Amino acid sequence: MDIRITTGARRGERPADEALGFGALFSEHLFAMDYSVEAGWHDARVEPRGDFRLDPAAAVFHYGQAMFEGCKAFRGVDGRVRLFRPDLHARRMVAGAPRLCMQAPSEAQMLSALRALVQVDVDWVPGAEGTSLYLRPTLIATEPFLGVRPSRQYRYFIIASPAGSYFGGAGLTPVRIWVERRDVRAPRGGLGATKAAANYVASLASSVKAQREGYDQVLWLDGQHHEYVEEVGTMNVCFVIGGALVTPSLSDSILAGVTRDSVLTLARERGLKVEERPVSLSELVSAHRGGHLTEVFGTGTAAVITPVGELALGEERLVIGDGAPGPLARAFSEDICAMQRGLKPDRFGWLVEVA
Ligand SMILES: *Cc1c(COP(=O)(O)O)cnc(C)c1O
Repeated sequence: MDIRITTGARRGERPADEALGFGALFSEHLFAMDYSVEAGWHDARVEPRGDFRLDPAAAVFHYGQAMFEGCKAFRGVDGRVRLFRPDLHARRMVAGAPRLCMQAPSEAQMLSALRALVQVDVDWVPGAEGTSLYLRPTLIATEPFLGVRPSRQYRYFIIASPAGSYFGGAGLTPVRIWVERRDVRAPRGGLGATKAAANYVASLASSVKAQREGYDQVLWLDGQHHEYVEEVGTMNVCFVIGGALVTPSLSDSILAGVTRDSVLTLARERGLKVEERPVSLSELVSAHRGGHLTEVFGTGTAAVITPVGELALGEERLVIGDGAPGPLARAFSEDICAMQRGLKPDRFGWLVEVA
């Protein structure tokens, strides 16, 4: 794929690594390319970051044909810059696009695009522990047409944001989780297995409600029985029950997380028993009563591992492991972060050097 590169004058220095937050600050360039039925994917470019001009009738504004990815570039202690499992992120967008009737670039095109943008904005990859360049590949429908059918024009773009530690605090800070027993993030047969923007808007009201009640995020249950655990916030969820690592089996209402896959791989490597199966609320309550539910944590690119210190089930409060991060959550977090920073060998071939 030919990528036209136009660099702009530097707009200034990026903040010190210690001052980085999440998602509010962006690097100087973006990658974009466009699709039409006649030309296919064309006009691949890296250019100075700026506003898009889109027709107000563009399909993305009306019928929600929009999906995204989130992956990271890390600066290793050796100064080299590497992407973490970018192939899985690209494959997930390729796999999800047909459910939204969208055209996606190929996996190879997405990988070239990531590489090109990171190379141009390489100075924006921070190096301190816990920092990264967060990359946001996004696919939107751009055809100006109000008829209800799949758009015939798309734009794929990537923006980049230097990121500190996701939750602001240092290290692993346990979160308090409110169990959502009424609203649903994604029903069976819906969009839940894709990173559709629509899944995020479906989740906002519950998350606002949970925060008003003093919780950080929501535990999502299945849409039919409101009994089986699906995900936590915008993360996959893992439980340690009687020493085994238990996580809900994937379905069309659960996103197949890259971090979930990494954690399951590390758990198997350690010889832990790994169970991918339905997990009910009643199982969790009785395992907690019996003292067998020793850890709960979320997995996702943004924070890697997020320990859950408390689950609020109506009036009942399940405090997990005295509210402190558990040993497995700590071990998985340390192991993945050490590989990402090049402090430990990349023993699974998860890192792709780009600069
Ligand atoms: C992005 C996302 C995750 C985490 O996936 P990773 O690939 O590990 O970042 C989990 N659940 C949902 C709903 C998500 O959107």
